[in-house]
Amino acid sequence: MKQSHLFTKTQKENPSGEMSINAQYLIRAGFVDKLSSGVYTLLPLGLRVVKKIQDIVREEMDALDAQEILMPSLHPKEIWETTGRWNVEEMYKIENEPYGLGWTHEEVITPLMKKFLLSNKDLPKAVYQIQTKFRNEPRAKSGLLRGKEFIMKDLYSFHENQDDLDDYYEKVKEAYFNVYRRLNLGDVTFLTLASGGTFSKYSHEFQTITDAGEDVIYICHKCKIAANKEVAGGTCPQCGNSELEEKKAIEVGNIFKLSTKYTSPFNLLAQNGKPLVMGCYGIGITRLLGTVVEVLSDNKGVIWPKSIAPFAVHLIQIDGGSIDVVEKCSEIYEILQKERIEVLYDNRSEKTAGEKLNDADLMGIPLRIVVSQKTLAANSVEIKARVEMEASLVKINELVNYLKRNV
Ligand code: ATP
Ligand code: MG
Repeated sequence: MKQSHLFTKTQKENPSGEMSINAQYLIRAGFVDKLSSGVYTLLPLGLRVVKKIQDIVREEMDALDAQEILMPSLHPKEIWETTGRWNVEEMYKIENEPYGLGWTHEEVITPLMKKFLLSNKDLPKAVYQIQTKFRNEPRAKSGLLRGKEFIMKDLYSFHENQDDLDDYYEKVKEAYFNVYRRLNLGDVTFLTLASGGTFSKYSHEFQTITDAGEDVIYICHKCKIAANKEVAGGTCPQCGNSELEEKKAIEVGNIFKLSTKYTSPFNLLAQNGKPLVMGCYGIGITRLLGTVVEVLSDNKGVIWPKSIAPFAVHLIQIDGGSIDVVEKCSEIYEILQKERIEVLYDNRSEKTAGEKLNDADLMGIPLRIVVSQKTLAANSVEIKARVEMEASLVKINELVNYLKRNV
């Protein structure tokens, strides 16, 4: 894509009233726009990243044999009255209408599955969606980390008995770690024991360590797990170790054995007449967008992992009025497109070299290619990885091969 074609622009100044780094960078770099507190538009660049996060999550869910659906956001009051959750704080209600906006989907998925899971032969089954949730969040001050409207992946599984749920739950745990590893968050994301509610001893959160986090976790370096405040009690619940490290963290996902909490009120029963056993598993998609920015940025801007970068390559034309540079650069742009290398081409003529390079750092595309009179004099382009300090020259006729090895 040509940068001159983007309707969005980068901004030099931090947006006023935006305290979090993730929102500051994402707004300045033109990835998101804030409509109001906790409510954001995904702009072309931000949407490209979110789609890539969704694709990774989708691959991992499909590998668990889960089937994708899309449930509604508009929920009739009676399904929420069935479980006694119509009056929870999170729910936005439509004034004078018997509807609320979906903040989670147990009340939709459970009666849905009742229509189809008719015998033990139909079990187990797992279903997920990637969908917009609405939640009345009083503390929406952390940019994309806590939205009043946000995108979540929610997976629900249904089993004949507890053992079968336990097996599936372990597989989901692995799949979640695959997701975080693929986003370069694997090293700083801890499986965290949290309270399990009425039906199981623990639930599990996935907590990514960063000072921007709203949660506090206690890490046991012996077990390589953590516990949250409710569970830690000064010692590791798994091995009793009392040397726990306290860290701030963002909850990027959680998994929960619901057992019969929702299958019972909706009468979703197995052939033996007992309610099915259920699990639910969430990942915050837009929260992950913000988390990657918080964890992987530096003082110049964002540093996208290759797996979710909006483009693989940022091609930057520094022409200083030279027709030769313009022609060569657009030739390189055409070649990269033909080779299906995702490229953002900064062809803007009104910007100085300094402005373009600052924008490139702010936007955080993994590889920067500069074409200038100086590089052309050596039949070369200058290449620099966003994570590195040093640039190097690569001959133009070797560029495609170089990129095939490095993007
Ligand atoms: P939190 O404790 O942060 O409020 P939660 O326990 O309410 O999270 P769940 O209802 O389990 O979260 O939602 C599943 C996932 O969705 C969370 O792990 C998180 O990653 C994400 N999520 C929850 N609330 C929000 C929000 N307001 N904005 C963005 N993502 C969210
Ligand atoms: Mg919450």
